[in-house]
Amino acid sequence: MLEFEPPQFQGHAHHLTKETYEEMYKESIASPETFFDKMGKNLLHWHQPFTKVKAGGFHQGDVNWFHDGQLNVSYNCVDRHAIATPNKVAIIYEADEPGRAQKITYAELLRKVCQFANTLKKYHVKKGDRVAIYLPNIPEAAVAMLACARIGAIHSVIFAGFSSDAVRDRILDAECAVVITADQGMRGGKVTHLKKIVDAAIEQCPCVKTCIVFQRTGDKSVPFTPERDVWWHEVVDNQRPVCPPEMMKSEDPLFMLYTSGSTGKPKGVVHTQAGYLLGATMTCKYVFDMHPNDVHGCMADVGWITGHTYIVYGPLSNGVATVIFESVPTYPTPSRYWDLVDTHKVTQFYTAPTAIRALRRLGDKHLEGYKLDSIRVLGSVGEPINPEAWLWYHEVVGRKRCMIVDTYWQTETGSIVVTPIPGVTTTKPGSATKPFFGVELGVLDSQTGQELVGNDVEGVLVIKSPFPSIARTVYDNHKRYMDTYLKPYPGFYFAGDGVKRDKDGYYWIQGRVDDVINVSGHRMSTAEVESALILHPLCGEAAVVGVPDDISGEAIVCFCSVKSGYSDITELQQSLRAQVRQNIGPFATPKRVIIVPDLPKTRSGKIMRRILRKVAAKDVTLEDAKTDAGIREKLGDISTLADQSIVKILIETAAKQ
Ligand code: ATP
Ligand code: MG
Repeated sequence: MLEFEPPQFQGHAHHLTKETYEEMYKESIASPETFFDKMGKNLLHWHQPFTKVKAGGFHQGDVNWFHDGQLNVSYNCVDRHAIATPNKVAIIYEADEPGRAQKITYAELLRKVCQFANTLKKYHVKKGDRVAIYLPNIPEAAVAMLACARIGAIHSVIFAGFSSDAVRDRILDAECAVVITADQGMRGGKVTHLKKIVDAAIEQCPCVKTCIVFQRTGDKSVPFTPERDVWWHEVVDNQRPVCPPEMMKSEDPLFMLYTSGSTGKPKGVVHTQAGYLLGATMTCKYVFDMHPNDVHGCMADVGWITGHTYIVYGPLSNGVATVIFESVPTYPTPSRYWDLVDTHKVTQFYTAPTAIRALRRLGDKHLEGYKLDSIRVLGSVGEPINPEAWLWYHEVVGRKRCMIVDTYWQTETGSIVVTPIPGVTTTKPGSATKPFFGVELGVLDSQTGQELVGNDVEGVLVIKSPFPSIARTVYDNHKRYMDTYLKPYPGFYFAGDGVKRDKDGYYWIQGRVDDVINVSGHRMSTAEVESALILHPLCGEAAVVGVPDDISGEAIVCFCSVKSGYSDITELQQSLRAQVRQNIGPFATPKRVIIVPDLPKTRSGKIMRRILRKVAAKDVTLEDAKTDAGIREKLGDISTLADQSIVKILIETAAKQ
């Protein structure tokens, strides 16, 4: 088993050492009140200090933190730095077009946030109102979010790749009166018609009274409804750049955000003010080992929780510079990330396994000539990272000198919950390692719900007690919150993922509980089989599902997208099967290997295995694939899929092979 000691940098002291970490972790579990009292007071600015730290719990679904305290999140993320270090860069905007980066200082950000907050007030937005944000990954998205936070409005950011139906459903669910969008978006050199999509959605949303439109491309043909639409530049620039922050109670909602929808209908998860901000601030400080002059490069989109916490709230609360990257890793070439890192001297780089695998597949030549020596921490999030991809990240991107943090968390957890810590944790490729401060994990037997104590166990991952940034409810549907997370195993938060705790107490996320495969009594995680496939020199990406089988109960079917350069498909399939057999064991030998051009992924880049399961089991046929309605009937909600046309291709490919 490969292990890596945490690197030490010359002239750079980490926030934590092995000793301080141990002591702090112990205190965070044994006396959370004392621990989080200190954290809350040291890391956040309070307008009304709290006296109570923690109350409620998972049994009743009434978790609350810092209950009687009051603060403002935008004050914490902007004002306090605009006062102390006004000329420091807050946001580096790396536009879709290379070479057009812009920098915004904390003082400038404060002006922008105040002007936009006053704009929202002008259109009658009040504390507690919901505001929909459907913007590209541009600074204005962060400005809009922080402006909502400033006046106590609840933002609901909708990723600007969603269709009008998905936008409509989310606007209606939250009853938003104001929608913020752009004329068009630019991503990878391609135009997206955001305003047109929003218009189609709003037509079916009587609740919407105002649509604020940012001019991103300035295209003249963009539709505009004068009685409802206003141009950002016309109204915002006209507002007073001062807006006193609203005092918010710790447990007032800060935002709602829909989950990625990998497993079904997305949930409108609600986060509150203080607990969420503390989670974001603490994890940035300790997991990314953030220091005042850092440039934090989180490559996510603000439309996802990763963007909320690690582009906007966490880095800004810590007063560092944060990168907002509008483009894609392969535009205009697969060197884009590395160009960005060297140009802006990025110190922490954070992306998803799907991007890491794609870049690995495209070859190391795209990294040649780049220094990448500013990076100290390389992060991964979103899916289990296969050891092979981890090693590539470590060796080719990190040049064996960076700390790799495989961070496990969810929309619902608000901030990272399982992760290595720079300066502290010995890493093992493929393992998210150990829980963060305040997070106590449990492994349960999936059948009996009994807790499995000790090491070397495998089962369902649960969180045993509340920590500050855990979601408090599902918007307007507390029952769904209880049913999904707290009722399955009473007293615990059920994460929905399978996990293995190895002999050293390290955690290995095994993928969704729903995706676990059982072949003749051998329980296998999708992550394990997929990692074996990726070891094959031609395999770029793999997804594995179980299908019903008369003899073994379930059989393994693999979907692989491969690098070019094979001649015989049957031979390739055979060698991929052999790869799994050799790596895991004969019992894991796949029944079928299907070579596909691409995998079905959510817009946040996660593999949607439930679709593949139905394709593999022939629950959806060529006949169904003829119409969208046929596909929808068999597969359910696939609106969160990045490219819906892949479904038909998969069904056809599977039928042929
Ligand atoms: P939905 O809940 O709607 O099905 P989703 O779970 O994909 O969507 P997110 O909250 O974006 O929505 O994703 C959280 C999930 O992503 C986790 O539950 C886990 O399955 C996976 N995940 C995130 N980070 C990691 C990681 N480092 N290792 C393994 N899995 C991860
Ligand atoms: Mg989920």
